[in-house]
Amino acid sequence: MFRKILVANRGEIAVRIIRACKEMGILTVAVFSTADRDALHVSLADESYCIGGPSVTESYLNMGAVITAAVVTGSEAIHPGYGLLSENSVFAALCDQCNIVFIGPSAESIAMMGDKNEARLAMIKANVPVIPGTEILADPDEAERRACDIGYPILIKARSGGGGRGIRLVKAKDELRRNFQAAAAEAEKAFGDPGLYLEKYLTGVKHIEMQILADKSGNVICLGERDCSAQRRNQKLMEESPSVAIDDAARAELVGITTAAVKSIGYHNAGTIEYLYDGKDGFYFMEMNTRLQVEHPVTEMVTGIDLVQWQIRIAYGLVIPFTQQDIELKGHAIECRINAEDPEHDFRPQCGTIETLHIPGGPGVRFDSAVYRGYAIPPYYDSMIGKLIVHSGSRSEALRKMHAALCELVIGGIAHNADLQRRILKDKRFISGKYDTGLISSMILKPEVRTDVK
Ligand code: ADP
Ligand code: ADP
Ligand code: MG
Repeated sequence: MFRKILVANRGEIAVRIIRACKEMGILTVAVFSTADRDALHVSLADESYCIGGPSVTESYLNMGAVITAAVVTGSEAIHPGYGLLSENSVFAALCDQCNIVFIGPSAESIAMMGDKNEARLAMIKANVPVIPGTEILADPDEAERRACDIGYPILIKARSGGGGRGIRLVKAKDELRRNFQAAAAEAEKAFGDPGLYLEKYLTGVKHIEMQILADKSGNVICLGERDCSAQRRNQKLMEESPSVAIDDAARAELVGITTAAVKSIGYHNAGTIEYLYDGKDGFYFMEMNTRLQVEHPVTEMVTGIDLVQWQIRIAYGLVIPFTQQDIELKGHAIECRINAEDPEHDFRPQCGTIETLHIPGGPGVRFDSAVYRGYAIPPYYDSMIGKLIVHSGSRSEALRKMHAALCELVIGGIAHNADLQRRILKDKRFISGKYDTGLISSMILKPEVRTDVK
C-alpha cells in the first residue's frame, strides 16, 4: 500500500481523507493557504505545508505548488477530494508525468466526462438515454432554430459548467437570444470556455444518481442510488439513499444502464452518474462526476463500504473483491448540507467566528466537518461547513433521527441553514418521498420569482 499520501484539498473533505488514511496506516501530508493556518486538516495531518495565498488560484489550484509539495515530501499519491483540482485532467496528467498516483480516474476519462457535450455523445454511443438536447451551438441563430425543434422551456448549459453554475432556464423564444449571449459571456468568465448547448427542461422529475466503484481490471460495482432532488438553484441541499421512487425493478434497470455506461468508457476509481427520472419513461443521463461526491456518506452508511478507502486501494491497483450480488442497501440514510449562508438574507455567505458549537451524536449520527469552537470561517471558500448524516432502519425513523439531530445541533456566531433543513424535513411532499427538484424553490420563493415553470 502507499506509504504517504498528499491531500490536495481543505475543509471537511480533507479531514475525511486524512481520517481514512490514518485507518489504513498511511501517512498524510496537508497543504494549505495562508488563510487556512488554523484549519483542522492542517493539524490532523502528519505533515503540513503552506503553498500560497488565500485565493484558490494562489494555493489550492496552484498545480506547481501542489506537485512540488508532493515531490519534496516523498508522497506517492495525491487525493484531490471534490471541487478544486479533482476534475482537472491537466493536473491528473501532470501527476502521471511526475510519477505520482492521482487518486481518481485517468486524465482521459476526466477530460471526456468533464466536457458535458463529449459525455453526452459517449453515452449516446453506449445506448444510454440522454435528455433531449443539442451539441455545442455556433451562435444564437442556431440556438433559436434548435430550441424550436426541442420545444420550450429549455435549459442553456455550459459545456464546462459545474457546481450548479452555468445553467439558464429559457421559457419562451423571445428570451433565448439575450440569455444565450449572457450565458456565453458568463461561461467564458467562470470556466474559461464559452461553449453552450441546449437541453429540454424537464419538470416534475427527480435527480437520481448512481455511485460506482470500478477497478483497473474492469470490474464495475454499483453501490445504490441517491435521491438528490432537494436542491436550491441546482445545488443539492439534502440527499438520501435509497430513493422511495426507485423499486427493485427500477434499481436493476439503473444498475444495468450504469454498468454498461462505465464499462463503455473504460473508467476506473469512484464516480457518479447523474440522471433525471420521471417515473414513467425511465432514466435520462445528465452528467458524470469523475470524483468523490459531496454526498458520498449516505452511500457509505447504507452499504457499509468506505468509499475513500476504496478509492485509495483501487488507485494502488487492488482488485475489488466483492461482486454486485454482495451489495445490499441496509436501512435508510439522509444527509443535510450545513451551509454558512443566511436564508433570511438571500442566502448570503457568512464568514466569522464559530462561538458556540454542539455536535449531535448517538447511534447512526455522523457529522463530517472541519469546524471547531473558536474557528474563524474565512471568506475565500465554499460556504458548506459540515454535513450531518443519519442512518436508521427505515426512512421514517431516519427522518425523525435527522430532525432530532438538527434540533440538537448548535452553531453559534454565524447564520446557517439548519432551520431551513428542519422545514424541509417537515414538508408533506418531502415526507411522502414524492418530491421533485422544484420542492425547495416552491417552499422558499414567492411564486413570481420561481424559476421552475410549474
Ligand atoms: P456533488 O454532486 O458532489 O454534490 P457539487 O455539484 O455540489 O457536487 O460540487 C462539488 C463541489 O465542487 C462544490 O464545492 C462545488 O462548488 C464545486 N464545483 C464543482 N464543479 C465546479 C466547477 N466547474 N466550478 C466551480 N466549482 C465547482
Ligand atoms: P452541475 O454540473 O452543475 O451539477 P447538472 O447538469 O448536473 O450540472 O445539473 C444540475 C441540476 O440542474 C440537476 O441536478 C437538476 O436538478 C437540474 N437540471 C439539469 N439539467 C436539467 C434538465 N434538462 N431539466 C431539468 N432540470 C435539470
Ligand atoms: Mg451535477
